[in-house]
Amino acid sequence: MHLKPFAYHRPLSLAGLWDIMDKAPSGGFILLGGGTDVLPRMGQRLLAPAALIGLKNIAELKVIEREGDDVFIGAASALQHVRESELVSRLFPALAQAAARVGSPQLRHMGTIGGNLCLDTRCLYYNQRQGPGAFPRCYKKGGDRCHVVKGGKRCYALFSADTPAALLALDARVCIGGAAGKREAPLNEFYRDDGIRSRDIGEKEIVLGIKIPGKPVRVSAYLRFSTRAAIDFPLAGLAVSVEKSRSGAFVNPRVAATGICSRPLRLAGLETLLAGRDVRREITEEEWGDALKELRPVRHQGISPAYRKYLFGVLMQRARARLVP
Ligand SMILES: Cc1cc2nc3c(=O)[nH]c(=O)nc-3n(C[C@H](O)[C@H](O)[C@H](O)COP(=O)(O)OP(=O)(O)OC[C@H]3O[C@@H](n4cnc5c(N)ncnc54)[C@H](O)[C@@H]3O)c2cc1C
Ligand code: SF4
Repeated sequence: MHLKPFAYHRPLSLAGLWDIMDKAPSGGFILLGGGTDVLPRMGQRLLAPAALIGLKNIAELKVIEREGDDVFIGAASALQHVRESELVSRLFPALAQAAARVGSPQLRHMGTIGGNLCLDTRCLYYNQRQGPGAFPRCYKKGGDRCHVVKGGKRCYALFSADTPAALLALDARVCIGGAAGKREAPLNEFYRDDGIRSRDIGEKEIVLGIKIPGKPVRVSAYLRFSTRAAIDFPLAGLAVSVEKSRSGAFVNPRVAATGICSRPLRLAGLETLLAGRDVRREITEEEWGDALKELRPVRHQGISPAYRKYLFGVLMQRARARLVP
């Protein structure tokens, strides 16, 4: 298999990166974390960039350190590094657990947290080798239809990265930068429910890293279902975090999901269900069914919307059991 020729840049500093990005033509490059998603897509002929810009040699994108009450995790930190970080495991178990569930050891050593945050959405009709026999062009390939939602007016491809759900449940903020400067935003505002443009980031900006508040101290957990135990994406992933308290009740709960729509999502219904509730009280199927009524998943990977909701309910019940002291 031959790929179209492309340039490969490996800047050693952010200044060098801005310079390369500044000189690159519009749409002419793709950022490369570990390449575990970009390179397979190039092999499938879904991407044919004129240049790849590798981020892994930029030291300031690879740190995991305290910044006051927050912890900063550089975007080029390998998932294995995140998983093994003592700081992360102690303060943010849900994040360590989510990083540990990504793919396989090889993928976690190569793949970065920035690449996981910016992972493209997936769909069986799109993520396949292009050529004779491929499905007719849908919206995501520049066509005029969606094969998943007949008559649909947009792309419903599924967001299924693991760590963003954990980071949403931990109230993380995303740090974004480019030649023009840096900005910060709540992670929840970074994503949109759009299978083609699921992230709010400029063409010449990058994710520098993620900031997670270390206070108030939270207990957290991440759980998921996938068809295979390893080397597979989640069918449903759920992260829960609550403030540590002696009250015996859930305080300020956060619940977030992946594998439900084109973005990782806070589940307001489940948060309301948990708030103030005795941690030892089980959640009935009827209760979680009511709390998930607001969700409108579409059929993906042959899984019906009703079954996908059911999976989230089961995960919620298991997560609750994990958080009981
Ligand atoms: C067999 C297989 C199984 C997998 N299983 C899982 C799984 O279970 N869970 C899961 O979450 N993922 C899974 N993945 C996907 C992937 O390996 C991971 O999501 C990984 O974390 C991607 O990180 P990366 O650094 O390799 O991303 P890359 O492939 O380098 O990049 C992914 C996207 O992010 C962009 N990007 C990278 N860094 C930045 C940055 N700093 N700023 C802005 N944009 C950036 C790239 O341009 C690209 O669009 C799997 C992949 C394979 C091949
Ligand atoms: S959800 Fe529809 S438009 Fe999007 S990739 Fe799948 S078939 Fe194409």
